[in-house]
Amino acid sequence: MLNLTNYSATPIQLITENLNNNNFYMKRDDLFPLSFGGNKARKAVHFFKDMISNNADCIVTYGSNASNHCRVVANIAASMKVPCYIVSPNQSDSQTFNSEMVKLFNASIIKCPIEEVNTTIKKKLKELKLQGYIPYFIPGGGHGDIGTKAYLEVYREIVEFERTSGVQFDYIFHTTGTGTTQAGLVCGKILGNDEKKIVGISNARRNPYGGKVVLESINSYLGSIGAPEISKDEVVFIDAYTLEGYGKYNVGILNTIENILRQDGIPLDPIYTGKSFWGMKEYIKSNGIKDKNVLFIHTGGTPLFFNHLKEIK
Ligand SMILES: *Cc1c(COP(=O)(O)O)cnc(C)c1O
Repeated sequence: MLNLTNYSATPIQLITENLNNNNFYMKRDDLFPLSFGGNKARKAVHFFKDMISNNADCIVTYGSNASNHCRVVANIAASMKVPCYIVSPNQSDSQTFNSEMVKLFNASIIKCPIEEVNTTIKKKLKELKLQGYIPYFIPGGGHGDIGTKAYLEVYREIVEFERTSGVQFDYIFHTTGTGTTQAGLVCGKILGNDEKKIVGISNARRNPYGGKVVLESINSYLGSIGAPEISKDEVVFIDAYTLEGYGKYNVGILNTIENILRQDGIPLDPIYTGKSFWGMKEYIKSNGIKDKNVLFIHTGGTPLFFNHLKEIK
């Protein structure tokens, strides 16, 4: 079975980028040591620990054909030899490296129209219970308090890096999607009484919805530990760089990916990390941010780098 505990902090490295005389660091959460890493692996270990403590014996989750989340969940389930069911919308049926791996791990894919996702999940859970299984449901993208907790852990790793290196970050940038990566980081900042600015660069969702989901995730977690709620002013959810939505990218993004790969040897992808790294640079330019220490969190998705390698060239 894959190791769900005892992993060490992912590295933080200085990178070549120096826009506006800022120092750029990258936290390599893509190197989280399990199934190509990334934030979905980071979250999944917490869900599986919860699954084990609930004595569950099979997994039901949700995601598209390109989903990093589904690849990680299917991988861990396969290592534990527990059945894994993935509800996936009909609309997403092209082959990707992640969908190929999901097949390799023998997960069962249940296709349905996107409007029927919730009912299909409920139906599957009910069916499994009737068959005598104890199913465990992991929300798409690893959403929920458990996912938030995983990024609280990342925030603590960042603070520990600051303590041992003497570097203090003024900004943390990262790709924000379904919200718990950002929620965990913001909770870490609030609970640690820190000043850092945390800027989520959305890859798809727009405001007010995108920011609202992050805020709800933050307050749900804070509520669960008896801490006071926060207001929406404390969430910086930037939707200015989503282009026409999920999966859309431009030449600036592809050039950014090529540069980072050439100069630093780090793979980004056009759907998540490359898009938001480009968005971060645009944000820094338009907000006149200079002479700061900036940390970008690489949230993973390395298989997507390979899906798009041809376009990057
Ligand atoms: C899912 C994903 C994100 C977005 O994370 P959320 O917690 O859903 O906001 C960012 N980067 C990568 C590579 C992802 O797979």
